[in-house]
Amino acid sequence: MIFEKYLIPDEMVDRFECVTPEHLLSLGKKFIICDIDNTLATYDDPTPPDNVVTWCRNMNEKGVTVAFVSNNHEERVALFNKNFGYAAYADSHKPGTKKLKTAMRDLGATAENAVLLGDQLLTDAAAAKSAGLYCIIVPPIRDKKNLFFRFKRWIEIPYVKKYRRTH
Ligand SMILES: [Mg+2]
Repeated sequence: MIFEKYLIPDEMVDRFECVTPEHLLSLGKKFIICDIDNTLATYDDPTPPDNVVTWCRNMNEKGVTVAFVSNNHEERVALFNKNFGYAAYADSHKPGTKKLKTAMRDLGATAENAVLLGDQLLTDAAAAKSAGLYCIIVPPIRDKKNLFFRFKRWIEIPYVKKYRRTH
């Protein structure tokens, strides 16, 4: 299947909270670079919900560094990151890998010890796999209903099916 190498994640889990620091560390991963929208929070959450704060703090306490790489604009990312103060990158243009690679360099992370967490195969998984990162995908928390988003989900279907057959 075309693009298979770039669009099939390493793991698909039900929600971000299924990803634990213990699991990441067992894989040798010390950095989790997160998409924000529909991965950790909805577009309607300007600041991180309590469960996101708890999850991030737990990552940090167990020795996993959290960062944000979002395709959304600077104000959205800055406000979401305000109380965390993590390395955070807006306008990332995933599936492009430029900001992701900048994030990894700033963090001192490598393709071997970092994972990318996101909700979209066409942007998040594609960026992660192009940069050689382990990729974990969650279903979008609350998808937009417009035609463009529905089209993107439709494109993803064969890759999700392939993932399910092989995992
Ligand atoms: Mg997203």
